[in-house]
Amino acid sequence: MCGIVGYIGPKSAESVLISGLKRLEYRGYDSAGISVISKDNKLETRKKAGKVSVLVQELADLPIAPAHIGIGHTRWATHGAPTDRNAHPHIGGSHHRLSLIHNGIIENFASLKKELSAAGTVFTSETDSEVVAHLVAIEYDKLQDLKQAFMVVVRRLEGAFTLLCIHQDHPDVVFAARRNSPLVIGLGQAENFLGSDVAAFIEYTKHAVAVGQDQIVELRSGSFQISDFEGNPVEAEEFEVSWDASAASKGGWPSFMAKEIADQPQAVGDTLMGRISSDGSVNLAEMADLAKLSEANRIVFVACGTAAYAAEAAKYAIEKWAKIPVSVELAHEFRYRDPVIDDKTLVIAMSQSGETMDTLMAVRHALSEGAKVLAVCNTQGATLAREAHATIYTHAGPEVAVASTKAFTAQVTAGQLIGLVLAWQRESLPIVELKKIGLELLTLPRKIKEVLDTAASMGELAKGFADAKSVLFLGRNIAYPIALEGALKLKELAYIHAEGFAAGELKHGPIALVENGQPVIVIVPSRLGEGSLHAKVVSNIQEIKARGARVIAIAEAGDSETGDYADEIFFIPETMPLLAGQLSVIPLQIFAMELSNAKGLDVDQPRNLAKSVTVE
Ligand code: GLU
Repeated sequence: MCGIVGYIGPKSAESVLISGLKRLEYRGYDSAGISVISKDNKLETRKKAGKVSVLVQELADLPIAPAHIGIGHTRWATHGAPTDRNAHPHIGGSHHRLSLIHNGIIENFASLKKELSAAGTVFTSETDSEVVAHLVAIEYDKLQDLKQAFMVVVRRLEGAFTLLCIHQDHPDVVFAARRNSPLVIGLGQAENFLGSDVAAFIEYTKHAVAVGQDQIVELRSGSFQISDFEGNPVEAEEFEVSWDASAASKGGWPSFMAKEIADQPQAVGDTLMGRISSDGSVNLAEMADLAKLSEANRIVFVACGTAAYAAEAAKYAIEKWAKIPVSVELAHEFRYRDPVIDDKTLVIAMSQSGETMDTLMAVRHALSEGAKVLAVCNTQGATLAREAHATIYTHAGPEVAVASTKAFTAQVTAGQLIGLVLAWQRESLPIVELKKIGLELLTLPRKIKEVLDTAASMGELAKGFADAKSVLFLGRNIAYPIALEGALKLKELAYIHAEGFAAGELKHGPIALVENGQPVIVIVPSRLGEGSLHAKVVSNIQEIKARGARVIAIAEAGDSETGDYADEIFFIPETMPLLAGQLSVIPLQIFAMELSNAKGLDVDQPRNLAKSVTVE
């Protein structure tokens, strides 16, 4: 969690830091703060509880010195309430010359704090982070070498951290370190940047360097050096960011959420681009890295939240096409229960940011057990991509709104691509069938666009539910994870209690929840294809209608039956049943967004959440 930005160069540090923090605010918005070192070598800090806009007001009321070096932080509180005092940066030592920001959790902070308190250090916050600021300042006073002091301290820390540190005796260098939390360097002309992700500096440069696990960065305006925690130099891994600043701005939309929902034809199109040729054959070059992939005898997805639902949706397609058992595990549950995995297990880790700590820990465990690991992620240079054997990037572009939309549809698409490749390798379906699926996948961007073009009616409908206390979502087969995702969106965005159920499960308990007026959104499957579940779900609608439910149905174009029973109906275009998830989720996203808007809530930054969950 939390956004981190650092700058050194000729520009105004304040303006670079504030624009970086605004771009990173989706990562945490409990408080924001910056420290700079002025031209006459004075360390100055401003920090405030609340969003970056509150800090901007503070800077207007109490201007900070012009400066060319500085660090900035938006917080997602883990230790201590979101107050001014607990906001970062934290000032270390009794001379107040060192400033430090931290993303993550210092797991051994209590013992370190005890040690410092016993030696007379006075703490001004309840955070775990403040101990690090004091430790570095004290070590520096002893060693008179900032890099050595920083290195000695990071070696003592346990847990997860990205740290940035400046000292007024050294106005020409920013030190940074990372373990289990993200950090990238941005390279400019006579200026350099640090960020939790490239969004922090994308306005200024696309030239970036990924910083590896347990590494330290010494950043100056004209150079940078990376070393391990012992000080041994490490080769830099440079990369070019493939999107530009406009992709991470609202571009005239009322919210990032609205923009990202509308981005989905492109997000899915870009994820398919170059991977399916015009005759429908699939080519995922990335999978060649896993030469023995087709020898895996089962697949285990590890993921959390929306990504876990995307994995569930992909599971149906992979099993059906590639005839390989697939299970989906919540990464945090998987990691700590001694799962049975071996070198014949393919673990697929899905995470938009590629920094989700729960997923990373599950991946590390899987690697240690000898499993092959394939990452599906949306962020270049992410830790997950670096640690997996191979990575399939979703090309959804930057996702800024905290609740995921376009990353979800891109992840489902990537999962289906994996299913196709495996089916090809395992010869589990005739080539002509596989090509048919490939060609149908290529129609999805156009069909998503068609859904968006008619989605205003769903938005209008949503406004009438602002007082709803609870909404139920039902789906079967591929639509079951879509129902779970629809419910999650509603919880996240509109703070309304929502539950997704497998429609067949209804009669085994949840139907007891249905009373007069209970809103239920039902995703009705296609009538097409053998084994269609259409009739069964239409029966489910009748069962809940008989008990007073108010039913909104999401059905396929040409379905003339469902409308006879549902109170409202929203149509999506016809497609292959296993590909319908990317279409049926769109009205659910819009329903949640418009309900949130109708309640006057912040759709981009819902309460208590942060975008990339980099703590366990
Ligand atoms: N654990 C630190 C705190 O609560 C840092 C949290 C963050 O990553 O924003 O202040």
